[in-house]
Amino acid sequence: MPELPEVETVRRQLEKRLNGARIFSVTVWQSDKERPQGEAFATALAGKRITGLERRGKLLLWRFSDGMALAVHLKMTGKLIFYEKKPSGPANRHERLLFAFRRGQETGYLAWSDVRRFGYVRLLDAAATETVLAEYGPEPLAATLETLVERLMLPSTRTIKAILLDQSVIAGIGNIYADEACFLSAIHPARRPSSLKPAEFRALAAAIQDILNRAVKQRGTSAHTYVDTEGKKGGFLRLLQVYGRGGQACLRCETPITKCVLAGRGTHFCRTCQPLKGRR
Ligand SMILES: [Zn+2]
Repeated sequence: MPELPEVETVRRQLEKRLNGARIFSVTVWQSDKERPQGEAFATALAGKRITGLERRGKLLLWRFSDGMALAVHLKMTGKLIFYEKKPSGPANRHERLLFAFRRGQETGYLAWSDVRRFGYVRLLDAAATETVLAEYGPEPLAATLETLVERLMLPSTRTIKAILLDQSVIAGIGNIYADEACFLSAIHPARRPSSLKPAEFRALAAAIQDILNRAVKQRGTSAHTYVDTEGKKGGFLRLLQVYGRGGQACLRCETPITKCVLAGRGTHFCRTCQPLKGRR
C-alpha cells in the first residue's frame, strides 16, 4: 500500500499540474467508490477551481475555492495517471474516472484507476473535511522528535508494530516503513511500549523520520504495484533492509530475516539485531 513517501510523491506531482487549475469536466467511465456516486459526482466536480493539494498521512486532499475538498485515498492499488491528450476511453478495465482540467492555456487529463477497489474519491464539505482530518495523529516529518516520542509512549498494551500502523498515533506509516523503522532502531516489532527504555523510544522516533525522509527523496518504494502519476516506480526498493527480505541474510549480522504475522500484517525483522527482550 502506498505510504507517506509514495503519497507525498503523488501530491507533489499533482501540485505542479493542478494547483490553480479548474476542473472543466469529469467522465465517469465506471461508477464505483466515488462519492457522490455516478453522474452526481461529475456534476458536483465540474467547474471547481483547485486552490491547494494537501496530504495528511496517506490521504490526498484537493482543496477547492468554494471551501469543499476532494479526499482521495489510494489504499492498495489506487492510481492517478496524467494524460496530455484526451483518452478516447479507459486504457484498461480498472480506469474508472477521468478529470479534465484547464489552467491558463494548458489543458490536461487525469485518470483514476483502482485494480483492487479499496481506494476512494469523496467530495467533502468543510465540516466533513475537518472531521476526517481530526482522526489523524501528527505528521511525522513536520512534528518534532519530542512529539513523536510522546505519541509512541502513550500507554498501550498493543505491540509496537500495531502502534506504528495506527494512523491516529502518528500519520502516514504503513507496513513497509514500520518494519524498516523497527530494524533501524533495533526494536523487535512485537515488543510493547512498557518494555521500551526512553532511549529506545527516541531511537524509534528518529528512525521514523530518517526512513521517511530518505524514502521521500527517492520518490517512494514500489514494493508491489505503486507507480506515480507518470507511471514511474519509486527508487527506495533497493534501500529496504528488512521488508520483503524474509529468509535472506540480515545486512548487519547475516542471521536470516524472520517473517511472521503481527497486527494482521506480514512483518519482517532480524531476531539477532532486534531481540524481543531489548538490549541489555
Ligand atoms: Zn541482524
